[in-house]
Amino acid sequence: MKTLKIAIQKSGRLNEKSVELLKNCGLNFENYKSSLISPVSNFPLEILFLRDDDIPEYVQDGIADLGIVGENVIEETEVKVSYLQRLGFGKCSLKIAVPNNNSIESVAQLHGKSIATTYPVILGKYLKAQGITSDIRTISGSVEISPGLGLSDAICDLVSTGGTLKSNGLKPFADVMSSEAVLIGSKGSESNDLVQELIQRIQSVLRAKETKYVVLNVERKNLKAVIALLPGVKSPSVVPLAEGDWVAVHTVIPERDFWDRISQLKQAGAQGIVVMPIEKIIL
Ligand code: ATP
Ligand code: ZN
Repeated sequence: MKTLKIAIQKSGRLNEKSVELLKNCGLNFENYKSSLISPVSNFPLEILFLRDDDIPEYVQDGIADLGIVGENVIEETEVKVSYLQRLGFGKCSLKIAVPNNNSIESVAQLHGKSIATTYPVILGKYLKAQGITSDIRTISGSVEISPGLGLSDAICDLVSTGGTLKSNGLKPFADVMSSEAVLIGSKGSESNDLVQELIQRIQSVLRAKETKYVVLNVERKNLKAVIALLPGVKSPSVVPLAEGDWVAVHTVIPERDFWDRISQLKQAGAQGIVVMPIEKIIL
């Protein structure tokens, strides 16, 4: 079968998480910072390390079959690719912000004003949809300093925690888009068996990340109440303990309601609660 190629960011915010995800999928490769291509020794796959801006076009043109890139970059480059899987990292939003002392606080007030951004396509569509005409100034970086330099009235830039905006005296007031890293494929790549295999592996890693493996001890008389609190993959395993009246319950809990559940479980009589990370969940 033909060797697949997957393009990931060479260095920057998505690089580490992309490499980690692929390694967690059991793929064995060298992460040489200096090389452009790294072969995977135990799967017919090559990893291409590229600038994130180039990834959508490589995938659209079929030079790479797959890519990991932010949704923001896909939207901005307007490529035709298939969205295969959201990956849950690289979360950020594209926001419009103005200096703290500026009176602009609604999108309508941007009419006739200048906005600096590295995302002219996305911003242009957003403003057009609202019938607003602004002077979009496309710059290639350090957008946040442009109002201070007198280059623009407002900016439109990616924000995750908002710390960079704050330290530059800017306040955000409009969300243009939210974004996360996604797995994309060339048109038709979904029907390739190796692509399907890789998607399955990625999903099993993501599923495992969202859940914790929990083992706890409980007296038999409290077992029903404790089990009622546990969703489990199917149903929890109950293992007898040497001490006759006690059992150990093994189950899987979604990370997001983890702390709520733990305190409820304790109240219901659970003791010695052990929480462990899960590597993969294959359904
Ligand atoms: P490259 O050298 O590959 O062109 P870059 O400087 O364009 O890198 P990074 O800053 O590494 O890109 O960001 C890569 C992606 O990370 C963004 O396109 C976005 O999807 C995501 N991201 C997550 N949080 C942020 C943030 N706070 N600022 C910018 N990008 C973010
Ligand atoms: Zn880039």
